[in-house]
Amino acid sequence: MFGKQIKPKIVIVGGGFAGLNAAQQLKSSRYDVTVIDPSPHIEWLPNIHEIISGVKSGEDLRLSRNILVRRLGHRFLMNRAMEMTSSAVLLDSGMKVPFDVCIVATGSVNNTFGVEGADEFALPMKSVEQCQVIARRLHRASLSHRTTRVTIVGGGIEGVEAFGEVMRAYRHRPQFEFNIVEASEHLLPRSPGHLDGKIRSHTDGFRVQYHLGKHVESVDHEGICLTDGSAVESDITIWSAGAAPNGFLQRSYLTEKANDWASVNSYFQSDARENVFIIGDAANPEGMPLAKQAYHAIDMGKAAAHNVERLLANKPLKEFHPSNKPQVVTFGDLDTFMLFRDFAVSSSVLGAAKEAIYTLGLLQMAPPKSAKDLLHSLDLLQRSTRKVYLPTLNPLSLVSKLPKSKVFS
Ligand SMILES: Cc1cc2nc3c(=O)[nH]c(=O)nc-3n(C[C@H](O)[C@H](O)[C@H](O)COP(=O)(O)OP(=O)(O)OC[C@H]3O[C@@H](n4cnc5c(N)ncnc54)[C@H](O)[C@@H]3O)c2cc1C
Repeated sequence: MFGKQIKPKIVIVGGGFAGLNAAQQLKSSRYDVTVIDPSPHIEWLPNIHEIISGVKSGEDLRLSRNILVRRLGHRFLMNRAMEMTSSAVLLDSGMKVPFDVCIVATGSVNNTFGVEGADEFALPMKSVEQCQVIARRLHRASLSHRTTRVTIVGGGIEGVEAFGEVMRAYRHRPQFEFNIVEASEHLLPRSPGHLDGKIRSHTDGFRVQYHLGKHVESVDHEGICLTDGSAVESDITIWSAGAAPNGFLQRSYLTEKANDWASVNSYFQSDARENVFIIGDAANPEGMPLAKQAYHAIDMGKAAAHNVERLLANKPLKEFHPSNKPQVVTFGDLDTFMLFRDFAVSSSVLGAAKEAIYTLGLLQMAPPKSAKDLLHSLDLLQRSTRKVYLPTLNPLSLVSKLPKSKVFS
């Protein structure tokens, strides 16, 4: 099947965490690799909520895809893949990109669950640009003395992190009021330990109202109607209530329904096609309920690339075994949690861990090739250190914060 070509053609649709990590594993001397993505930058999504408070800028969180992919010796096409056949990807420019094997890593999109008005009136936070819009709206409101009601819909990890950044920047501004709406009875409902009380204790004394166990029925320019008939007045509504599959999956017949994640086996091969591997948020690996998280997407990218190589070499494929890495969740400058499988640890000083993951992650994705590059990376580290580490890590505040560290199980 693949023997006649000197270099097998591998197309990677989506150059995010999963796609770029797959690309990094594939040697350009052995494969003709094309990465397709409509956006010029890879964005470090795990820290984009920090744009809301201004501790990070868009520039801190973006790397040029073209540079990263070309450094690997591969080809980058800045274009949207519309659909695929069993041997080619069709781009919105009309171009057809043929492949022997395709890796699909199209991630996820914002999910408003068909709630009336949510797409129009609520602000999503799935990209640097969207977080910049939120930051500008909040900043503009802070210049006025009029009351501004800020609502975060979704009290999962991303919602809590966004709420933390809003609190970091605006909790001492008297004109701001804050609401959190979450469908479950608790914040961070799918996380170990019962962190709900701990998070809420940090907001005692501020103008925060929690609407837990409540479902949003509709959103408009005045606020939110809940399904129990009550209403929440809101001037700025941030939507962080979940993710949905990218439409590319269904258009390419990799899923049947629009809301399905793509079923793959434990080698990441699509149930629909042997020469298509699906990874990252887009994939639903058989018998492996994985959280839609960057650390899984990175591991999946590496594992799938090795299986692509094995497929092309007619070798048996290897099963993926997910690692159990702890996840770090920040709550602005008020607290940080490290979530393990069965328990969680809370401590402000863990904020440094998230910064270290961010800096090391960027360095791994774009290893410095020159002294100038390295200086840029060190600059980035220094800037983030100044803005985020120091308030929590200078020796005096470290001493006062250590006794507050706590284990939740
Ligand atoms: C606010 C926020 C905070 C998060 N915090 C954390 C965290 O703390 N820790 C953690 O581990 N994870 C976190 N995540 C989740 C993590 O970012 C995702 O799990 C990860 O990005 C998934 O990687 P992926 O490669 O599957 O998708 P993505 O990184 O989303 O990449 C998908 C790529 O596909 C491209 N694409 C989409 N459609 C097409 C198309 N038709 N043609 C071509 N390209 C296409 C997109 O442009 C995008 O570049 C967070 C996510 C968000 C939004």
